[in-house]
Amino acid sequence: MSIHGEGQGTDLPCFLNASGTWASICKSINMLHTEYSLDTTFLLLKIGNGTNAKFWYDPWINDSSLASCYPRLLALDTNNSSSVASRYNNNGWLFFWRRDPRYGIEVENLQALNHLFSSISITSESDYWTWEGGTFSVSKVRKLIDNHDLARFSIATKWCKQVPIKINIFVWRLKLSRLATKVNLSARGIVLEEAGCCLCDESFEDENHLFLHCATSQQIWSKISQWSNISLPSWSSLANLWAWIDGVPIPQNRRLITSIIIYATLWNIWRLRNSVIFDDKSFRKCHVIDSIVTTSFNWIFARVRKKNCNWNQWLQSPLLSL
Ligand SMILES: [Zn+2]
Repeated sequence: MSIHGEGQGTDLPCFLNASGTWASICKSINMLHTEYSLDTTFLLLKIGNGTNAKFWYDPWINDSSLASCYPRLLALDTNNSSSVASRYNNNGWLFFWRRDPRYGIEVENLQALNHLFSSISITSESDYWTWEGGTFSVSKVRKLIDNHDLARFSIATKWCKQVPIKINIFVWRLKLSRLATKVNLSARGIVLEEAGCCLCDESFEDENHLFLHCATSQQIWSKISQWSNISLPSWSSLANLWAWIDGVPIPQNRRLITSIIIYATLWNIWRLRNSVIFDDKSFRKCHVIDSIVTTSFNWIFARVRKKNCNWNQWLQSPLLSL
């Protein structure tokens, strides 16, 4: 049974058709990990000869797998299912690159990896799994699962009646870090050719980068701020952005319009990202601002009963439109 997703990671010592307490524990942890991304760092793999440890997918060198720490190196590797033992000989550590790491972040990651290797000794002993702290206890696992669930649901699900269901679902997934960004996909063990942001190729594509820190996104936010006359701060994270929407001291109508414009901006950045990845030429960077202005107008005025819904007013001063 795998604790790192289907087909990846080393099996816990349990047969699939086994019954009893240990089998139940293994199956429950496996299900929580694959279905709900339960952190399994309390299960530690102690490395011996490396024959039972997956080089990329088992947490044999520290708390996390190399795949989750270095997704760009993983994407360059041609044999990502190999064991630790097959990656080591008397001359040192072996890699099988598609091409040599050559960009800044790749070279930096390789140096960090080589540094980690210096603390590892391969011995003739067998590899084995252990619980963090040495002793398994049901209460410890229960606490981990509770913490995981409470953390998952601590973000209130806010449904905005003025935007379509698919946008509410998009925002909900974004709040839970469940959007299929490259970093999220890598963390779930999906092998990608490139983990970099397709809008700038300057950083990994995680949510905070893609929607807030990417140069392209920042240009978009800046233009939206100019058009809407809403003073949008430079949020350091999406958590910051959600907190700002809830806390900014403005009247209710303006908060609604601001939220909808922000939703439309996030949605259109995501559309732009997808159009670049899937080579959809019908939606490009030059279309984004117009699309944000139009979609936010359509969302609001299709659902708000107000007679003087005015496109020209919306173009010139959206905050005064309700
Ligand atoms: Zn970027």
